[in-house]
Amino acid sequence: MGTLSMQHIYKKYSNAENYTVTDFNLEIDEKEFIVFVGPSGCGKSTTLRMVAGLEDITEGELKIGDRVINNVAPKDRDIAMVFQNYALYPHMTVFDNMAFGLKLRKYPTAEIKKKVEEAAEILGLTEYLKRKPAALSGGQRQRVALGRAIVRDAQVFLMDEPLSNLDAKLRVSMRAEIAKLHQRLGTTTIYVTHDQTEAMTMADRIVIMMDGLIQQIGSPKEVYDLP
Ligand code: ADP
Ligand code: ADP
Repeated sequence: MGTLSMQHIYKKYSNAENYTVTDFNLEIDEKEFIVFVGPSGCGKSTTLRMVAGLEDITEGELKIGDRVINNVAPKDRDIAMVFQNYALYPHMTVFDNMAFGLKLRKYPTAEIKKKVEEAAEILGLTEYLKRKPAALSGGQRQRVALGRAIVRDAQVFLMDEPLSNLDAKLRVSMRAEIAKLHQRLGTTTIYVTHDQTEAMTMADRIVIMMDGLIQQIGSPKEVYDLP
């Protein structure tokens, strides 16, 4: 697919006085696992949502390879997002939750079934496909949210604090699961967190943000001055 590049990206919300994101520059290589870290309100989510197409970019260029995608609709971007609150539909089964984005994109039924079953297999959800989200544990719900992204075969995954609703123990095990998933699928990933341990253990490169600005970019070793 080529590099995902963000060139001189600025964001000013129409009701805000100041810029929320200022001159954000980043080139993400294929298969890289990038973690945005920084205090609450520093602009991590806003940046991620601009990549997803859920927020307009005020200035600057977002590209995949040579293609500028600033104005491409979210559903037409080769990008899948996993949300903090999972955004699962309570009235739908696990299968239908995972299939939703594919139905929206008018995939043939047989292909939807195949993709959902494959994703369920990878995530250990095969026996839960007929359940509703309310009948799942927190970790299982989080896996369904991951499944919705996986079935898309997207080139880029965006994860916005995906583990923040889980208890500490589950967070640690899901962290490892996401890392394994990334190894298996090799999907370019941007992962947002305010948790430095998560950043350190998961990232190829960490982007430290502060007040809408990139403070530092580097490997965990470089950024946290590890031996
Ligand atoms: P983070 O993800 O790092 O916590 P956000 O990107 O959510 O930060 O928020 C950055 C800043 O932008 C905050 O000051 C927040 O209040 C503001 N903000 C977020 N969303 C909106 C919005 N829809 N309209 C106006 N301001 C917003
Ligand atoms: P998908 O799982 O395919 O991203 P959803 O099941 O979240 O799609 O789709 C629900 C709605 O969200 C659709 O109207 C779709 O246009 C929109 N949408 C598409 N892509 C995204 C995205 N990356 N993040 C959030 N919403 C999206």
